[in-house]
Amino acid sequence: MAEFGLPKYRVRQLETAMYGQKVADIREVTTWPKELRERVAAAGFCVGRPEIVETFRSVDGTERYLIAGNDGKTVETVWMPEGDGGESGDGSGEDEESSESKKEWSRATICVSSQIGCAVNCQFCLTAKLGIIRNLTAGEIAGQVAAVLKKHEAEPGRDRINLVFMGMGEPFLNYDAFMAAVRLLAGPMEIPESRMTVSTSGIVPGILRFAGEKVRPKLAISLNAPNDAVREEIMPVTRKWSIAEVIDAVRLVPLRPRERVTFEYVLLGGVNDRVEQADEVVKLVRRAQFPAKVNLIAWNPGPGVPFAMPDAEGVARFQERLRAQGVPAFVRRPRGRDIYAACGQLKKTGSG
Ligand code: SAH
Ligand code: SF4
Repeated sequence: MAEFGLPKYRVRQLETAMYGQKVADIREVTTWPKELRERVAAAGFCVGRPEIVETFRSVDGTERYLIAGNDGKTVETVWMPEGDGGESGDGSGEDEESSESKKEWSRATICVSSQIGCAVNCQFCLTAKLGIIRNLTAGEIAGQVAAVLKKHEAEPGRDRINLVFMGMGEPFLNYDAFMAAVRLLAGPMEIPESRMTVSTSGIVPGILRFAGEKVRPKLAISLNAPNDAVREEIMPVTRKWSIAEVIDAVRLVPLRPRERVTFEYVLLGGVNDRVEQADEVVKLVRRAQFPAKVNLIAWNPGPGVPFAMPDAEGVARFQERLRAQGVPAFVRRPRGRDIYAACGQLKKTGSG
């Protein structure tokens, strides 16, 4: 729009038309003079929702989509009806179900991608196998949400929609586009920032910028290990930024009332799931000195990823050990494992 010499307020008007009224044609942007609409349309610009190219449906109701990017490459997005959006135990009362809804779902969580592939190379994650293919634009990130809301006729003003930026990619390595998408989603698309959570593998410069944002999602940190030695083995990014450096950066994020930082912890059988390691996690969380909780995720398998699932008792024991020492800990239910939609499984598998 800068090339058209348009003032800022014209851009705002376009954003409102695209992401609020959801116009499907530039000519429908009625807040613009007709001449301007014609000129921009004639230059080849078009608007509209990205297309869902393929849908995979899980036995548990989860759906995974391949959504067309601007260059025809696809991005992955997941719809989780009744998904808890990491809300459990955050004191917001979001766990209760609404009995009024006539739909199959009374609330839902959309898991959004920020990049195609990922450069971070966590050893347990299937997305890592792709390497980084490219960043998504702000429009492609917000567009995933627009496409999925439309498919389910969901309206954030009426329905309880949570967003988690936990799909493919590292949001804080695509910081500007990611935050621009957040502003579109929280602004004209009217999804409260308090219903959004972004997860990072611990990109310290990103966390520092995030600390200065006025509008921002809740923060989750992929901790995944009790100490730097174990974390370096499974998350090479630890060599760049240690756990202590990540925690120091997080401490600078001004939390809202009752807000807690989530530490995600993927349990890998025999690697990080021993009770003594839970004790180390307790120490880390205490030393952090900000309100926090731990979300435990049993590792989801993927082809060519050399780890083992933890046994069920092991998961329960780990959780109990954290809780007994006063650390709030929740076990995340895997969603859509059968269609490769669960955490760490997004890699365009199963497509024709
Ligand atoms: N790149 C960001 C966000 C996407 S990953 C990040 O890593 O935080 C979302 C979560 O899924 C992370 O906490 C990650 O540790 C976890 N994860 C990755 N692979 C997994 C797997 N195979 N099983 C279970 N969780 C996994
Ligand atoms: Fe990237 Fe997150 Fe997977 Fe690590 S866990 S490779 S940061 S998507």
